Amino acid sequence: MTDIPSRMRAAVTHDWNVIRVEQVPLPELEPGEVLVQVGACGICGTDLKIVSGVYKGSWPPALPFIQGHEWGGTVAALGEGVSGLQVGDRVAAENHKGCGTCPMCRQGRYNLCEVARTKGRAYKLYGHSAPGAFAEYAARPATLLHPIPDNVSFEESTIINQGALGLHAVRRCRIEPGDTVAVIGPGLVGMITLQLAQAVGAVRVIVVGRGPRLDLARALGADEVVDYTSGDPVEAVRAVTGGRGADCAFECAGTAAAVVTATQCVRRGGRVALVGLTGGKPIELNTDRLTLDEIDVFGVRSSPNAYPELIKLIAAGKVNVRRLVSAVYPLEEINEAFAAFRSREGGAIRMVIKI
Ligand SMILES: [Zn+2]
Ligand SMILES: [Zn+2]
Repeated sequence: MTDIPSRMRAAVTHDWNVIRVEQVPLPELEPGEVLVQVGACGICGTDLKIVSGVYKGSWPPALPFIQGHEWGGTVAALGEGVSGLQVGDRVAAENHKGCGTCPMCRQGRYNLCEVARTKGRAYKLYGHSAPGAFAEYAARPATLLHPIPDNVSFEESTIINQGALGLHAVRRCRIEPGDTVAVIGPGLVGMITLQLAQAVGAVRVIVVGRGPRLDLARALGADEVVDYTSGDPVEAVRAVTGGRGADCAFECAGTAAAVVTATQCVRRGGRVALVGLTGGKPIELNTDRLTLDEIDVFGVRSSPNAYPELIKLIAAGKVNVRRLVSAVYPLEEINEAFAAFRSREGGAIRMVIKI
């Protein structure tokens, strides 16, 4: 513990859209927790909403607050009772700490912890309702930390959180070898889902989106790209599948139109994963189509039990995350990074804060 300081630099959200980098005390370790020196932390679309007060009162519960939930770093100190990790280990961190005792947690579905919405209970969502990692150090339960090999950089480790969401979606949707898959929304999760679909045996992946992101989707292996601004995307997906439709579709855009496209572009008996959030807006959906064609629709939240396998896929080169890191900023320039991400400068996919 000798070379660990008592204070650290952190980006603190003081008011809506007001972040200041300043010195704050280091987090104190509770039993079972690990102190991690943060290597890099990504800015997520959710961070843009949190910082502007969209979820005020819950994410964060109060100000000032340290955001940041997509990150990796180096183990700096172990709290009481921690086993399985050593000082110096490189790790990536999960966000959801389930209570561990409710029926969903007991099934391993800690992303659906049943006391999550009960204030003051054992559930935590780091970077949302508990302190995040836009700071030099962060404390986390050892159970949320997963070792990463040396060939995965900290910048790349900032993709693991969203990538694991893609893996959870692929698992929920049960892609089978030989499947044709449509990915609606070539953002970070979409780009990962495209690669994961191929890694688990999809023979054809169609990416629906627009602009330069479609070029990146092609570079990452998309077999077909559909620009939804130049025609009906459902018809386009049907056209490239001989009129039949895709076996599975992944809605990764979080828009009403993408939800409709995903549910309409699959074949009879097809499967649909809803990964994006539309902000609770009502959506006009033809549910007769879902009923009469027996379409399975899966909600997908977070990434339970998906980190270790995703880390292996990245380390083995099956999922390219390097190309998804758009720009890297020092902690002092976090406001510039937020602004650049908000404007999606140059089609930015993932802005990373290197700490
Ligand atoms: Zn996120
Ligand atoms: Zn629980």
